[in-house]
Amino acid sequence: MHIVPERDIADLMTRAAAFDAVEKVFAAMAAEDAYNFPVIREALGHEEALYGFKGGFDRAGSTLGLKAGGYWPHNLEKRGLINHQSTVFLFDPDTGKVSAMVGGNLLTALRTAAASSVSIKHLAREDAKVIGMVGAGHQATFQLRAALEQRSFEKVIGWNLHPEMLPNLEKVAAEAGLPFEAVDLPGLKEADVVITITSSFDPIVLSEHISDGTHVACMGTDTIGKQEVAADLLTRATVFTDEVAQSTTLGEAQHAVANGSLTADQITQLGAVINGTHGGRASDREVTLFDGTGVGLQDLAVAARVVELAIEKGTAIEVDF
Ligand code: NAD
Repeated sequence: MHIVPERDIADLMTRAAAFDAVEKVFAAMAAEDAYNFPVIREALGHEEALYGFKGGFDRAGSTLGLKAGGYWPHNLEKRGLINHQSTVFLFDPDTGKVSAMVGGNLLTALRTAAASSVSIKHLAREDAKVIGMVGAGHQATFQLRAALEQRSFEKVIGWNLHPEMLPNLEKVAAEAGLPFEAVDLPGLKEADVVITITSSFDPIVLSEHISDGTHVACMGTDTIGKQEVAADLLTRATVFTDEVAQSTTLGEAQHAVANGSLTADQITQLGAVINGTHGGRASDREVTLFDGTGVGLQDLAVAARVVELAIEKGTAIEVDF
């Protein structure tokens, strides 16, 4: 088996490689060549940790495996470690033998950013100029960097519950040579693309904060009870997702589905747009919304790619197992 430690990922994996891996696996999911296994997520009753597994099988990409990990809220303060910890294990689909163990922390950020970026490529208006960020934490910077590569954006605007974190976004905008402006929530109306990436349990973005023609990528809601946008924005928008089953149960769509204003059959897999079986955005005035819940197959896709890159570069650690 090959081991690619966390410390090597930054030198191996690029945003372009993550984008390509995620776009391909979304397409495979919609073509029913790949499927995710049911997610396990447990509160351990120890260190207040949440731990779980996300796995799947991609027949098209010949990738089988799982990501194990979760959230340890006291890691940083007690041990100087990051709070999100995960590792990806890959198996040979022909034999069941373990084939790789890969650090999953940076990969999680890259594959999550790639997902919203893929949604922007396929759903945002071509002439999008202003991108609005809601959230300014760890993931937000990855999201913004990846999104800026998809359209000729001219300005970044942002809102965060904790405004002292907004310089995180300003820094990424400056790297891209773009101006940054902090806005209040109604100020989001200026945006052509909005990404939400917070840990919120209550709606932040209301339908009245979003202009017609905007593409909204909701990326923070990945658990039952979380919510970033008002449910009526999902009934106004055309809703796309990585996986419908996750979208309706633990994604942003859970609330509109629960109140009966949206049904599962009104939600389209983004892979169908990539494959061309769904036309995507229908008009310049339509609001499109991508509910990015985060699926195990995304993790496997980027991990498989990083193993190939590590083998090519001769940095993969080979272990007889
Ligand atoms: P972080 O702790 O670095 O940042 C959290 C962000 O949420 C900050 O902007 C903070 O100001 C904001 N926030 C915190 N509490 C809030 C509240 N009550 N209301 C509104 N905003 C609030 O976290 P992160 O690593 O950037 O992750 C952000 C979110 O993304 C988390 O909810 C995480 O679970 C989710 N996530 C989703 C995926 C996916 O695939 N969809 C993948 C990874 C992380």
